[in-house]
Amino acid sequence: MNTFSIVFLFALALATFMRLWLDRRHINHIRAHRAAVPGEFADQISLDAHQRAADYTCAKTRLAMITVAVEAALLLWLTFGGGLQAMHEISAAWLPEGIGRGLALIALLTIVMTVFEMPFSLYRTFRIEERFGFNKMTLGLFCIDALKSLLIAALFGIPFAACVLWLMATMGVWWWLYAWLVWVGFSVFMYAVYPTWIAPLFNKFSPMQDAELRARVERLLTRCGFKVKGLMVMDSSKRSSHGNAYFTGFGKSKRIVFFDTLLARLNPAEVEAVLAHELGHFKLRHVFKRMAWIFSVSLGFLWLLGYLMEKDWFFHGLGVATPSTAMALILFFVVVPNFTFLLQPLLSMYSRRHEFEADQYAVQNASARDLITALVKLYKDNASTLTPDPVHSAFYDSHPPAPIRIARLQQTAAAT
Ligand SMILES: [Zn+2]
Repeated sequence: MNTFSIVFLFALALATFMRLWLDRRHINHIRAHRAAVPGEFADQISLDAHQRAADYTCAKTRLAMITVAVEAALLLWLTFGGGLQAMHEISAAWLPEGIGRGLALIALLTIVMTVFEMPFSLYRTFRIEERFGFNKMTLGLFCIDALKSLLIAALFGIPFAACVLWLMATMGVWWWLYAWLVWVGFSVFMYAVYPTWIAPLFNKFSPMQDAELRARVERLLTRCGFKVKGLMVMDSSKRSSHGNAYFTGFGKSKRIVFFDTLLARLNPAEVEAVLAHELGHFKLRHVFKRMAWIFSVSLGFLWLLGYLMEKDWFFHGLGVATPSTAMALILFFVVVPNFTFLLQPLLSMYSRRHEFEADQYAVQNASARDLITALVKLYKDNASTLTPDPVHSAFYDSHPPAPIRIARLQQTAAAT
């Protein structure tokens, strides 16, 4: 134990306490508003649907609280409990010092974390989602998905990790700059190939068939000055009945993907309004702005890692006796989120601002009224709570809470 141990323990305690406190508030707030549908939604959402959304959100939040507590315990075991040191000893017993040993250490930790995550994932899917009628997945499909994800992570992750470890070992004090360049290249590459290489491994994508809807969507695209080749429908209904639409890829892989569950629920005018919102994100360069932020912040973090891995107190303070480049990477990625947790509200605020901007864009290019009815249907179908705790929402919500978002749209609708 050294001073850094105390700093870390303080950060972990603070982040854990804050998370639990926010979740508790959220549950209490939702329960307090469970008895009545908020006035502005009273004619569109039944009391039954409102209470189902409240119970669903509380069930998910309770699971989140358990996850937070268990994660904190796991982190304590990995560091002060000697978990990471033991993994180092296992990999050192089998492999000589070098990139191979570093990869083995990272793989061991990944396996431990995956095994630990599994019961929570199973409970979420087969208890909570199942109970509220969202789950369409079988246990077989769940296992196949998990296996595929693991293989893909290994296929892309191992060469990437090997490359970073090699840079750390050979590039001297500037390794972090090279590692950053590799990481930026890797991220852009993954973003580009995801829609055509990876997504089809999990879902079937077929061109949109409905001629009327297609024509409508194409008119919107022309109006917005958009060239997209792929208008795809994804068979998301084989896993879950949650509905969505998204925009993905760039260059040749650029496409718009509609969940079949979304098309089944919304009428063509509503689909158009939802798509106009998604186009707004693209037109206003939200994806690029976000990427630019992530890339610049991560450059700073990599520099910080470069500094920390030279210091013995960083390793010893976290319960590791044998410093190595792979261990530095691991410690950094498991420890840092506890320090950056307090930045979460800023990220969420930034994201919510983009949502408002995209809504504004949608209103200019489609109809505000259609977007409102579409959103209400989606809130209802997805059992999203209409009464989140304001502090919890400010902290975590990437999308504005339903009442605020709809109120803004109604103002615009009234003005037109
Ligand atoms: Zn959005």
